[in-house]
Amino acid sequence: MIVAIDGPAGSGKSTTARAVARRMGFLYLDTGAMFRAVALVFLRAGADPTDAAAADLLEGCEIQVTHDGETMRIALDGEDVSEAIRRPEVGAMASDVAKLAAVRAYLLAEQRRIGHAHAEGGVVLDGRDIGTVVFPEADVKIFMVADPDVRAARRRDELARRGHDAPLQTVREDLLRRDRQDAGRAIAPLRRADDAVELDTSRRSFEEQVQFVIDKIRERQEKAPV
Ligand code: C5P
Repeated sequence: MIVAIDGPAGSGKSTTARAVARRMGFLYLDTGAMFRAVALVFLRAGADPTDAAAADLLEGCEIQVTHDGETMRIALDGEDVSEAIRRPEVGAMASDVAKLAAVRAYLLAEQRRIGHAHAEGGVVLDGRDIGTVVFPEADVKIFMVADPDVRAARRRDELARRGHDAPLQTVREDLLRRDRQDAGRAIAPLRRADDAVELDTSRRSFEEQVQFVIDKIRERQEKAPV
């Protein structure tokens, strides 16, 4: 069972995907974290993300995803960067490096490898292109959306919990800039797959969001065992 959850920044993908995976006993893969880890490599090297050759930086650098129960951790050459990648400037850089063909190809192979390895027991992946490019054959596809004001407030609160305080307006602008860039890029742009179910989380409780996805998984399981 492969569950694909896509949508713009702050739509609630990660928290929903993580909770669904926990309740279903599935593996959770946050593909955004992988782009953020690449962004951290670029930031640390002072590399220019508009320079496609900068993707050479990835040669000889190892991005490792590990799972400790329901928690996913990500490491760069053995250093755990799970917290460092949450800084706002890493998110902005992630959207820049995500335009590069070499970066996408590098991560796509890894995302598919992890997804296939865990498909039997169930896996939930969240990102921007899971239902369209990474796993177009996914068993369940959800496209999460929410009003920009709701998304900005959620992201601001999430950043504050991690110790990064930022004004709501700045968070909102950053989010919308990132959406425009993610939806407008040439390769694997953010878009709803034709067969994805839309889930608008603007006025739903977290519990309702999670239940919505679980209901879709159960419907799919009843149709044909996967
Ligand atoms: O989901 P998150 O906000 O952590 O993702 C950071 C950035 O990584 C996104 O803005 C997007 O540009 C990129 N990304 C992507 N494809 C994915 C997941 C994330 O291009 N599947």
